[in-house]
Amino acid sequence: MNTIKADQIIELEPSFIKVPYEQIRKSFRSQYKHIEKDTVYMQEKIESSIRNSELSVEKGIETLADIRKHVDKLSRRLQKFKELDAVQINKIEKRIKNLLEIEEVTSPTAPEFTAWCKTRLHRVIVDYLLREGLTGTAQRVAKESHIEDMVDIDLFTQAEKIEQALRNHSCKECLAWCTENKSNLRKMRSTLEFNLRLQEHIELARGNKGLEAITYAQKYLTPWNATEHKRIGQAMGLLAYSSDTQCQPYKDLYDHARWQELIDQFRTDNFALCSLTSHPLLSITLQAGLSALKTPQCYVPEDQNVNCPICDNQTLGNLAEKLPLSHHVNSTIVCRISGKIMNEDNPPMLLPNGRVYSLHVSVCKSNRSGV
Ligand SMILES: [Zn+2]
Repeated sequence: MNTIKADQIIELEPSFIKVPYEQIRKSFRSQYKHIEKDTVYMQEKIESSIRNSELSVEKGIETLADIRKHVDKLSRRLQKFKELDAVQINKIEKRIKNLLEIEEVTSPTAPEFTAWCKTRLHRVIVDYLLREGLTGTAQRVAKESHIEDMVDIDLFTQAEKIEQALRNHSCKECLAWCTENKSNLRKMRSTLEFNLRLQEHIELARGNKGLEAITYAQKYLTPWNATEHKRIGQAMGLLAYSSDTQCQPYKDLYDHARWQELIDQFRTDNFALCSLTSHPLLSITLQAGLSALKTPQCYVPEDQNVNCPICDNQTLGNLAEKLPLSHHVNSTIVCRISGKIMNEDNPPMLLPNGRVYSLHVSVCKSNRSGV
């Protein structure tokens, strides 16, 4: 790499700025809802007091005290929002500053670029650890690398609590999250809430609580009738079968694997709502590099190169499997044993068996069998 293309580097991480921005947007919407709700309440109280010509002084004082209580409550709530917003604004400032650093660097050999790449590597590692559920380790790495403002540990910690609850077969926490994000989930046409409600219904059926299951279905499943008619029918049919049934689709409905599906769906929806990439940044960054190296020979066992990361089909080769091949205008001949480029300083040598290796191959890999 001879020049730094900052825009291309930044493009790899759309969530870097978007995540805190989305958090502020979410907070703004919540604040707006609270203000609107409390204003309507207070306005109604005042108007009904004005209309009431027989309002006693005591009753008037009582109404004023009630309004005052509401104003105090609202102001405390808004103060809390303000503090949380300040944290997110600080994150955005730090992140923009970090991106500006790369804009100003001109050479890939500059120490500023090395330092920036090191910070990015730490960020990418923290992101990977968080997605793997290793929150403690991620916190340590973030603290030691001084990048706490550049990673979204809080977001993953909250998500981990909900995932843990689902692992313990409790839908309550995830349903509360669905209520919190109702309008956005509706816009996304998410079926997460329905699937959670269906799971609660299944658990009632598993516990032989048929009547409770029917009441539950009437309250929480029927509102989805327009789009989930078939599955609601299956849910009601389920009540006629015990949990050890072999009959489909009821066997699958009783399957505990559904809990993992709920976790996966929550993850997908949560990442989409927070503008987080669905794949870890580590995979995305690695794939960007691997696509520049991938050749058709990488997956032909006898043509593999010891120095090519993709030729190791068990690790990085596996990650690069679905990537397009790299586009090379000029071919470079590389010795498959030494991994060195063959040119005038290291010419290709033809062996009697018809194979071609670079001249320096025996020097570099003299201990390799068959050379
Ligand atoms: Zn290769």
